[in-house]
Amino acid sequence: MDMDIRSILQESEQKKIAIGHFNISDSVALHAIVAVARKLNVPVFIGTSEGEAGFIGYKQAAALVKSMREEFNHPIFLNADHSHSIETVKQAVEAGYDSIIFDGSKLLLEDNIKATKYAVEFIKSKNPDILVEGELGYIGSSSVLLDDIPEGAAIEEKDLTTIEEATRFVQETKVDLFSPAVGNLHGMFKHISNPRLNIERIKQIKETITIPMVLHGGSGIQDEDFVAAIEAGVNVIHINTEIRRAWRAGLEARLQEKPDEVAPYKLLDGSLEKISEVVYNRLTLFSRQ
Ligand SMILES: [Zn+2]
Repeated sequence: MDMDIRSILQESEQKKIAIGHFNISDSVALHAIVAVARKLNVPVFIGTSEGEAGFIGYKQAAALVKSMREEFNHPIFLNADHSHSIETVKQAVEAGYDSIIFDGSKLLLEDNIKATKYAVEFIKSKNPDILVEGELGYIGSSSVLLDDIPEGAAIEEKDLTTIEEATRFVQETKVDLFSPAVGNLHGMFKHISNPRLNIERIKQIKETITIPMVLHGGSGIQDEDFVAAIEAGVNVIHINTEIRRAWRAGLEARLQEKPDEVAPYKLLDGSLEKISEVVYNRLTLFSRQ
């Protein structure tokens, strides 16, 4: 299999498929995600947010991913998800991450462009191989179960990322990947599907910017919206809340089945099982298998 991150992204464009990006806090989720990606023979992105990387460790996450990529000779990449400062960007660079998201989406457009441009220049000066993603349009910041739309999140058509803003942002910051607000939200609703995506906007932005496009907040989005978004030009899709929910559900089930068990691996295999189901369903859909 191709092991080059850039040509894999190009290939996804030609084949009209998307690469799955799944977040981890521990090695349980990592093992589940990698096993499914290998089974389906598809590349995969592993993500750590600042909180997740703080828990597992930047260097430790990088060492784990690298060891699996080498052992299995499989394209598994590590992404520093939503880095909000140059300090965390630096930690990811030094640890050896394959890609880094600088997230200035809460800033005003001018400030976001300035901060993202600085992050791109900083990262490329340290290691030009690292891919840098920029974010435009605020979609909430936590992978949680939602009761309401996160405060300040762009969800109405007038608040979504415009074609003009996207073009300017990509040109001026020189990011490698771009993530817009197109009706997507971080987090997922407890009892209903997330809001619908604006497929037309995705298509229009993609036609103008031409670089790979990333869809955040994939948890809770309906299958038909994913299919349409991929068709419209989305190359990478992020899933986090569904992984977290599966982790907890799997663990809870085992705790109930085995109230006296104390061996972590005999309890956490419940999480592994549930996470694998989520990853399998998503990756088969994204890669159209
Ligand atoms: Zn995200």
